[in-house]
Amino acid sequence: MVYMPNILGPWVAPPQAGPRLRRLAASPASRRDRRGAPVLRVVGVIVDSEGAVPGEVRIGPSGEILERGSRGTLGPERAGERKLHGIVLPRAVNGHTHVGDSVWTKEPPRLPFHQVVAPPHGLKHRLLAQTSPREKRQGMRASLSAMAALGTAVTLDFREEARPGVRLLRAAEKGAGLEAIALGRPADPLDRREVRALLQEADGLGLSALRDLPLGAAELARQEVRRAGKRLALHASESVWESLDPVLDLKPDLLVHLCEATGEDLDAVRDAKVAVAACPRSNALYGRFPPLAQIERRGIPLLLGTDNVMFQAPDLFREMEFAYLSSRARGEPLEPRTLVDAVFVTPWKILGRPAAARLEVGAPSRALVLRLPTEDPYYQVAARSAHRHLLVPGRSAVGGAVPVA
Ligand SMILES: [Zn+2]
Repeated sequence: MVYMPNILGPWVAPPQAGPRLRRLAASPASRRDRRGAPVLRVVGVIVDSEGAVPGEVRIGPSGEILERGSRGTLGPERAGERKLHGIVLPRAVNGHTHVGDSVWTKEPPRLPFHQVVAPPHGLKHRLLAQTSPREKRQGMRASLSAMAALGTAVTLDFREEARPGVRLLRAAEKGAGLEAIALGRPADPLDRREVRALLQEADGLGLSALRDLPLGAAELARQEVRRAGKRLALHASESVWESLDPVLDLKPDLLVHLCEATGEDLDAVRDAKVAVAACPRSNALYGRFPPLAQIERRGIPLLLGTDNVMFQAPDLFREMEFAYLSSRARGEPLEPRTLVDAVFVTPWKILGRPAAARLEVGAPSRALVLRLPTEDPYYQVAARSAHRHLLVPGRSAVGGAVPVA
């Protein structure tokens, strides 16, 4: 893998940023506050859990909202602040990743799906078994750092390889500037002691499909997750239709994919109030597409995930654009807002941290800025945003590495 050191200061413009953003990221001390980063004043549209509202904000060096008002109400420009026009958003959440397979950097083989990812003998699992812990940790850290530079604050990661796998992720996460929610996978899902020990370190379980599990494993997982007060997430109906009744009986927190789910299945998911993480680019590689329009129509809480890092870069802007364009190509167009909420708003609610999706003074949220036209902000964000438009306040030099896309 080729790495490029992340040498930018407390304001990190991504490597693809143009010269203006690079100059801003490296702006001199006179333009910075006492903690070393400039205060940003952004005039445009604020998009958060309350919708898209014209206005202006002052953003502090860590991305915190210092002031918020309607346009023209924040007074004259102050010394040391930098004024921009654009769209302000909360930080993003990636709804589904497998950062453990970051070490693979070639075109995914054109093999049947199960030969690539199915445990325990699929290519991905052989790759994990053959790679040293050090290489895996370095690959994971590079991916997590790249995600942080793209404005992602949290990723829900399905971490294979049992307890050692979760420990590697925890080590990779240090200094990456991003929180990885580690959803672990036991080596023997019927070994209650192992599952219990895994849950002492992981944030929950991230299982492959129910049909891949031995009889009794899912119920054991449900009991232990409940006991530990953690999260249960599963892949479901990804490449083959599965009955969702036994899946929903587990009362999962999150289902991933659902490409083969029927309308009736989705009604049941809605009624059970279970969130769904969709991964359109990853599914497209194997000729599938998640039923996004049907999910939207039913108001099912939706997250977007970039899935296996061995398939595509963990870039939610590209995920949104692909999802939007594909939905148009399929004749089932999505509202751009559905995709924007799936990345910047809904996941925070699912995580039980709704205040992180609200951009107001005193909230725990941290802002991103996209330097884009503000007339139709949801469309701009979903379909026209890219690295070069993005500013991520408060990302100190992460000490890691950003893979060159
Ligand atoms: Zn997955």
